Amino acid sequence: MKPLIETENLTYTYPNGPAALAGVNLRIEAGSKTAIVGPNGAGKSTLLLMFNGMLRPDSGEIRFSGRPIAYDNRSLRDLRRRVGFVFQNPDVQIIAPTVEADVAFGPLNLGLPPDAVRKAVRDALGYVGLQGYEKRPPHHLSGGEKKRVAIAGILAMEPDVLVFDEPTNTLDPASAEEVMELLDELATSGRTVLISTHDVELAYRWADSVILMERGRILARGPPGEVFSDSRLLAAARLKPPALLDLYNELGLRGIIDPDAPPKSVLEFTDRIERMIHGRAVTGALTGRVYLCDVERVCGDELRGFIESGAVEHVGAMGTRAKEFAGHERIYPDYTYGVIDRCILKALIGENSLIITSGGMVEHVKKRIGEYSAESGQTIAVIPLGRGKGHPGATGGEIPS
Ligand code: ADP
Repeated sequence: MKPLIETENLTYTYPNGPAALAGVNLRIEAGSKTAIVGPNGAGKSTLLLMFNGMLRPDSGEIRFSGRPIAYDNRSLRDLRRRVGFVFQNPDVQIIAPTVEADVAFGPLNLGLPPDAVRKAVRDALGYVGLQGYEKRPPHHLSGGEKKRVAIAGILAMEPDVLVFDEPTNTLDPASAEEVMELLDELATSGRTVLISTHDVELAYRWADSVILMERGRILARGPPGEVFSDSRLLAAARLKPPALLDLYNELGLRGIIDPDAPPKSVLEFTDRIERMIHGRAVTGALTGRVYLCDVERVCGDELRGFIESGAVEHVGAMGTRAKEFAGHERIYPDYTYGVIDRCILKALIGENSLIITSGGMVEHVKKRIGEYSAESGQTIAVIPLGRGKGHPGATGGEIPS
């Protein structure tokens, strides 16, 4: 497959500054979730700024969709529409006096007619869960909300690639989780998402490909489990391994587990330990169910009634649209991140959960749980909730194992 973005021997030195990039070669595949990981000063931001032409390399070449980036105004405008850049600090990005005006800025600049601008703003604010914020002054919003305004401003231009410089750096843990979930949603909808971070935990659980940087060079690239298992490389980059991987590697070194492939999640790891203890996966145990609610198909009263009936012990909300729906309907989710895995973990101990979500994430949940059932041999029923005949589960059918 041809990479979407490719760089060859990029170098860059700031005026009166150090060599920020010292020969960078990389490839970013279309549809991938890539994290550029390195300590402060490694050159991550400098590299990202090259991808939409905000910085121009001193030497080397960047290719987008196979063609070298050109730096005339027209080419740059086109590139910046296709490669959206979200700055670390949203205050740098937000320029207009209201949320609506800020998000409209990009589409207006693209010369879209007023109706199309209005639609782009409405869709983008809906996507990040900020409907109703149109007239609010951005500088009165919380850090997490500002970040979402900045993301909406980029989404309104419908880019193919989204580049996030340190997306969670200034956010509290809950806002950081919301932003990472939004990034997951964007990737699920087929966009290429690229982030820079010094947070190895975040990169390990989120990315499908990691590029390790230090002193303007790429030290390693590959799947997170592989790159973060190399302690020598991590030490060279002044980073520590992710806790889950560290534990897995230590247990492997002591001969307690058989190291084959590093676990990506707590679910995967506990499954493997269980298989090891019992010599196999414990199948046949009564698994709990996962009810699946698409917010477009179920009304709040029905859903609240369903939860209050005690049919489920746990409730998770995936995606900004679902969280907003839950908030509006006074439904308080137990899980707002890593929802699918957590509900699978609960199903494995016989407890029922409800996942509230929307759009493409509905199929994603079914697929993920279906795959888990097939791989583990433990069938977990996914029951879509639907409108009609009395209660929300009435039109649902179980996914066959
Ligand atoms: P990271 O994003 O990994 O923290 P940066 O790309 O911001 O790294 O920085 C790479 C190097 O370039 C660092 O040594 C930093 O001090 C330097 N640098 C970054 N921005 C500037 C600037 N505007 N002027 C001069 N030096 C800079």
